[in-house]
Amino acid sequence: MADPIQQLTAALARLPGVGEKTAQRFVFFLLADRTGAAREIAHALARLADEMSLCRQCGFPSQGELCAYCSDPRRDGGLICVVQNPQDVLAIERTAEYRGRYHVLHGVINPLEGVGPDRLPIRELLARLDGVSEVILALNPTVEGDATALYLQRLISPAGVKVTRPATGVAVGMGIEYADKATLAQAINSRRGMG
Ligand SMILES: [Zn+2]
Repeated sequence: MADPIQQLTAALARLPGVGEKTAQRFVFFLLADRTGAAREIAHALARLADEMSLCRQCGFPSQGELCAYCSDPRRDGGLICVVQNPQDVLAIERTAEYRGRYHVLHGVINPLEGVGPDRLPIRELLARLDGVSEVILALNPTVEGDATALYLQRLISPAGVKVTRPATGVAVGMGIEYADKATLAQAINSRRGMG
C-alpha cells in the first residue's frame, strides 16, 4: 500500500488537466494547510460519491433516479437538447431561453482517443425519441463535435424527428460552456435544420 501522499497524488493525477506535478502541488498544499481544507474536501468528495449519480434518462448529475430537468413536468418533453458535458446544460440554463429536456453524452466521438459511438449513451438517446418532435444537437463546433452531430443526425432523422444545430457564430467557437449568455441564447434561437 502506497503512503497517503503517494496514494492521493496518484488519485489526483487521474483528473482531467491535472498531471503528476500539479497533483503533488495540491497534496503538499493540503498537508501544510491549517484551515481544515483536506477534511472539508474529503467530506465533499464522500458526499459526491455517496449521494450523487447520473440521471438514468439524460445523464445529468442527480440526487435521485431522475434529475431536476427530467422530473420537471413543466419542461417540454417533445424537445431534447444533446450536449457534450453537464457544464453545457448549466450554460444553456443561464440563457433562460430553453424549456425542453437534455441528453448529456459525457464526450464526443473521438477515434484518436479511442472513443467510439459505443462508448457514448447514444442507444439511450434513440430510446427516448418516442413523442419527441425535435432534437437540438448543441455540440461544440470542433471536428469531433461536428462529426458526432452528423453521426447522430443520420440515426435520428430516419425516425421522423427534426434535427437542428444552434447557429454557431464565431463567438460560440470556443464551446457552448464558454459562450456568453446573449450569444448562446441567439445561437439556440436561430438554430438550423440539419440535412
Ligand atoms: Zn435527467
